[in-house]
Amino acid sequence: MKIADIIVHPLTAAYAQGSWTAHEYFGAAQLVLIEVRTDSGLVGYGEVVGGPQKTICDLIATFAEVIKGMDPLGHVEIWNKLFSLTVPRPGGLGGWDGLPAPLPRGQRPQIMAAIGGIDIALWDLKGKAMNRPVFRLLGGTRTEVFTYGTGGFYVEGAPLSSYADELGGFVANGFRAVKLKSGALSLSDEVERIRLVRNAIGPKTLLMLDMNAPYDVEGCIRYADAVAPHDIFWLEEPLHWHLQPADYMRLARATPIPLAHCERETHRFTVRDFIDSGAIRFVQFDSTRHAGFTESLRIAYYAEQKGVVIAPHTAAHIHCHIVSAFGDAAFAAETRGNAADHPIHHAIYRGGPVFKDGMLHLSEAPGFGMDVDWKGVERLRS
Ligand SMILES: [Mg+2]
Repeated sequence: MKIADIIVHPLTAAYAQGSWTAHEYFGAAQLVLIEVRTDSGLVGYGEVVGGPQKTICDLIATFAEVIKGMDPLGHVEIWNKLFSLTVPRPGGLGGWDGLPAPLPRGQRPQIMAAIGGIDIALWDLKGKAMNRPVFRLLGGTRTEVFTYGTGGFYVEGAPLSSYADELGGFVANGFRAVKLKSGALSLSDEVERIRLVRNAIGPKTLLMLDMNAPYDVEGCIRYADAVAPHDIFWLEEPLHWHLQPADYMRLARATPIPLAHCERETHRFTVRDFIDSGAIRFVQFDSTRHAGFTESLRIAYYAEQKGVVIAPHTAAHIHCHIVSAFGDAAFAAETRGNAADHPIHHAIYRGGPVFKDGMLHLSEAPGFGMDVDWKGVERLRS
């Protein structure tokens, strides 16, 4: 089997209600759906969540020319070949050796995302070629995996109690763990908001706080001390974007609340240093934003050895396969507590894991187990 072509479908869907994290506004969901076609007729589907979409699609077109004719089951060779285009090589200046010239430094996030989207499609293809779901290829046996519901995105003018109503609703729908966006308001408003949420979800529901990098170390120690009485399961991405493992180590020494991190890291080498620092207890790679399923597996195997718990970021339909395969070394797959917060997934995919009673139930369909609804794709084309 050989790779014959790669087709991209950039998609956009407006949310019914725009909302904020502590850092940015979300008025629409965006996703690039990727088809890797083969000479055997088998097609694998991958996706990239990120932008700008045009940059990502142009990079994927460049990568398609590099990997056409290669065996799609050779995911490590393909990943390494594409990644090698990011650095200088002897004779490669100007693309004089027939491969693309070393890729622009300013496009690194988009390059990693493009590699990731292709790589996810290769894993989907591998499962289809073997007629097995991806979690079975990895040796997984769990067909139910734990999940948690994320919500509490900030809405302008919304009363603090509205977030408690929202997350309380997740629990009423079966979630046993929920994650609240935090970090956008004053410390006193945040503490009150968290208190209201804890009251609404009850004492037994796990409560995580997803902070989107609002604090320096000293500010975050004050925040952690103030929220600790509400039984917090983890603080996620607590520190400013530029702060590094040494800063996370200072924070970890000052608070008993476990830290979760690495959704913003684009490859395994920086994640390795966060894991080695001992500061983080949960590691949150994201195959759909950066570097793909292959890189997520590399991180997951490393984390398992180091005793850091695997907690993939978003894309439950893909990451549930890793959570299944890593058993007790993995915590959960992340879903949005409100299904309407996945406007693209609902429009373009049929099949995949099913949520019931706080768990995701995996199917035995091959690959990642999703079929594409092409009418939905046409409706959302960017
Ligand atoms: Mg997060």
